[in-house]
Amino acid sequence: SGDAWGDSDEDLLIDHVEKYEKSRQDSHVINNHCDDDDDDKLVTPLYKFRPGYLWVSDFTRQNWCEQQMYYSFTVPTIFEENPVMTEGSNLHLARELAVHDVTQVKVTSNEDIWAVKVINLITALQTMLNGGTIVREVPVFGCPYNTDVFIVGLVDELKFDPETFTLNLSEFKTRKFRSFPSKSQQNTHQLQVMLYKKLFDDLVKGNVSKDTVARHLRLDLHKAFGDDILQTIDSKLLSSTNLSQLLDDLYTKIQCFTCVQELEIEYQHQESKDIIGKHSVTYDEDRLHHMFNDYIKFWKGKREVRGVDIEEAFKCQSCDFADICEWRKRKAEECSKRNKSKIDNS
Ligand code: SF4
Repeated sequence: SGDAWGDSDEDLLIDHVEKYEKSRQDSHVINNHCDDDDDDKLVTPLYKFRPGYLWVSDFTRQNWCEQQMYYSFTVPTIFEENPVMTEGSNLHLARELAVHDVTQVKVTSNEDIWAVKVINLITALQTMLNGGTIVREVPVFGCPYNTDVFIVGLVDELKFDPETFTLNLSEFKTRKFRSFPSKSQQNTHQLQVMLYKKLFDDLVKGNVSKDTVARHLRLDLHKAFGDDILQTIDSKLLSSTNLSQLLDDLYTKIQCFTCVQELEIEYQHQESKDIIGKHSVTYDEDRLHHMFNDYIKFWKGKREVRGVDIEEAFKCQSCDFADICEWRKRKAEECSKRNKSKIDNS
């Protein structure tokens, strides 16, 4: 019924945490685009909102409500951090710092910026090859399913078992309430870890060519890195002086690994720090492929933006855009028409 569009749910609190995490990631986004010679592509959401590449979190937001994500790009809003977001970020940072230190490096070009991501990935691989069993905040990237759309993600945690040489991927979520999130929120988390696995596995399989990286990110593979990056590379006992060489180092190291075996999501209660529980996720290639293709159609301007279905109308209750949402209005009108015609026919 139309009333379902007013149900409430707590999940958006966590969605806001993800928004916050996304906004932090945005600060590193650089404006690169590979398709600006093609007039048709100039008007696509991909070109307008995410020139160059998408983040995995763009897909999770899209999975929650594509219309909401669209409004977040098009309707000016004031982003306000709340205590739940702050605590979520603090807990993530504490876990990260528990396994490695963070060093500031000065970047002087886009090539330097991307070198940082590649160095962080190489460092994680090197740590595991040297006997480390847990690495955190691991960058992954690539063009899944040959869609010609570049995706970047940051994996929370990889666990490596040197005995069996198996690799498990884990995502950490914090909760204000001591309970698992709703099925809808769990779905977005499942999509997130499946996409991380897809990106990591494609790197292991050698499916991400240097040309793909250079073309999508508009990078000069042979441009010399700045001094800070060169020093950092040196400290890792590597000798690359440009992205072409650094990517070769990455591909050599990552091919020592197998694809990710298991996927897991861990939920922690913010206040008590107790672990609420862990969910293992079954990787479903067909499901991921289907969802991915559908979402890419939106980004490429091949279909209209969609809001949530009636079954998920509870999401509208805590949505910042509920008052202006055309989708919600249209769905409510359709519901009311259907209800009226039922009454007329009875
Ligand atoms: Fe999506 Fe509902 Fe928000 Fe509209 S009101 S953007 S359909 S969550």
